[in-house]
Amino acid sequence: MISVEEAFELIEQHVREIGPLDSTKVAVQDSVGRVLATEIVADVDSPPHHKSVMDGFAVNSADIRSGITQFRVLETIAAGTMPSHTVTSGTTSRIMTGAPMPDGADAVVMVELSSIGYSAPTPDEVTLTWDGPLEKFLSGKHMMEHGQNFARGQAIFPIGHRIRAVDIGLLAEVGASWVEVRRQPTVAVLPTGDELVDCSCQPADSQIRNSNGPMVGAICQNLGTHVTDLGIGADDPADLTARIKVGLDQDVLLLSGGVSAGTLDLVPGILESLNVVQVFHKVKIKPGKPIFFGVRQRDGGRPCLVFGLPGNPVSSLIGVQLFVSTALRLLSGQIPAAPLSLPAVLSTPHQTRGDRPTYWPGRRVRTSGALPGAVEPLPWNGSSDLFSLGQAEGLIQMPPRAQPWAAGERVLFFPLT
Ligand code: AMP
Ligand code: MG
Repeated sequence: MISVEEAFELIEQHVREIGPLDSTKVAVQDSVGRVLATEIVADVDSPPHHKSVMDGFAVNSADIRSGITQFRVLETIAAGTMPSHTVTSGTTSRIMTGAPMPDGADAVVMVELSSIGYSAPTPDEVTLTWDGPLEKFLSGKHMMEHGQNFARGQAIFPIGHRIRAVDIGLLAEVGASWVEVRRQPTVAVLPTGDELVDCSCQPADSQIRNSNGPMVGAICQNLGTHVTDLGIGADDPADLTARIKVGLDQDVLLLSGGVSAGTLDLVPGILESLNVVQVFHKVKIKPGKPIFFGVRQRDGGRPCLVFGLPGNPVSSLIGVQLFVSTALRLLSGQIPAAPLSLPAVLSTPHQTRGDRPTYWPGRRVRTSGALPGAVEPLPWNGSSDLFSLGQAEGLIQMPPRAQPWAAGERVLFFPLT
């Protein structure tokens, strides 16, 4: 059985062989969640000129330092206009937030420290004071330098960056009204099992609702993919074969259930009969051990990546969070592709059993006095228990070992989204 690290390596190796998906252009407003296929470079300086960051009076700072308080007002400079006078000793120009600084001025005195009110008309003469030690009124006060944030030609976002909502303003600022992004992977989801009914149904005594299908689909959608629901597959070779064939037309096929060692665990055999070449089956991980990964070549098309997730819901969830998500990020050219993990410390002692690394549901501890980065393992009944995941914010990774874990010990925390 391979280790978690080996599973990541094999996924990376096979997806890199296939290469990232082709690219397309989308309007910046529609680009949230998409992955950049080209670098974004600034086409302007920011700010585009020396600019005031206050409403006030543009002065030569040396005037204020030398104790001059009376100034002749040359003009009013609003945002969106260019100054037409040069500020010289004893003169000033009224300036608004965002307006270009006039030549000769290197600082701004706030209107609140002038002899006029905020909304008063611009006078011919004004008294300007400074409320600190005069020698501290330095060049650059209340203004920004031309290009202080970034310069034209500067790299803004690298290839592989997944665009967040907060990035849209910066993209707009640099004129990236259309961005070149990767095509979104298509993912087919096929939960299998005779005991499953749709979540809209009332299960009979022997039945349970299909929780994996909607969950796996939602996580994949969140990862920026197009999801197709293939319905619920029966534990029947003909039905499974027909549904899997449809799924193999997508970039990724995700099955859940039927991949372990029971007599009705038909999935690996059917995949083999449909020319899916197994890369691995079973990973040293708890829960989620029986996970299957394979690749199906397609004549004249891109290969299909196939994951068989163990049916227990938390096993399926972990398989998607760790392995499927990595494959999807690699396909989308996203950097980094590995799942986010954060250093954390255990808030309470904990005991895990067995020889596999365990991923245990946990949440951050926010009570005052808690250790920085403290995470609390939650009560949990194992791989079928989604209730605990509803309370969790992430998975706590605990490598296998004989002795119990003590409070304060270092672990890795994988946030859930
Ligand atoms: P299997 O991997 O098919 O042996 O299933 C393992 C366990 O997970 C069984 O208890 C199944 O009933 C349960 N299970 C399988 N698929 C699903 C699903 N889609 N939703 C919820 N539970 C499932
Ligand atoms: Mg089953």
